[in-house]
Amino acid sequence: MIDFHCHLDLYPDPAGVIDDCRRRGLYVLCVTTTPTAWKGTSALAEHAPRIRTALGLHPQLAHERRGELPLFDELLPQIHYVGEVGLDGAPESRPHWHAQVAVFEHILATCSAAGGRIMSLHSRRASDAVLAGKSKTSPCQWSAGNDAGAAPSSASPSASFFLETGK
Ligand SMILES: [Zn+2]
Repeated sequence: MIDFHCHLDLYPDPAGVIDDCRRRGLYVLCVTTTPTAWKGTSALAEHAPRIRTALGLHPQLAHERRGELPLFDELLPQIHYVGEVGLDGAPESRPHWHAQVAVFEHILATCSAAGGRIMSLHSRRASDAVLAGKSKTSPCQWSAGNDAGAAPSSASPSASFFLETGK
């Protein structure tokens, strides 16, 4: 089993979660909510070969943390996975929609210029906008889960990104 969207750094006992994943033989993609979180989160799992860490900037934090985009750009060349990134159209996030779009478009353009990345996308009441932005930069296949932690569809093994959706 593969979990393409895990917030390992937000568990109270990340080392215990890593041990549990190792025992069960699980493959896990850890997403990060800010570029500054990537270093610490990737260090948690550096001795766990089935666990990889994605570089992210959560859309709900885009307006507060857009100043970390230069760090995102600096880290990206050494990183194969990006997430979580995307758009959040829920009422509490709508006031910062323009900042979200600016950050997401920057990330998509940067990833595209770098040759593409495997991405875990956050999309909450924003699927059309997320897919429109993604399709502007590259053709893609995708699979959708209902919530964080949803496994990707086995029908698209070559998918380049995975979509986290919610209400
Ligand atoms: Zn998430």
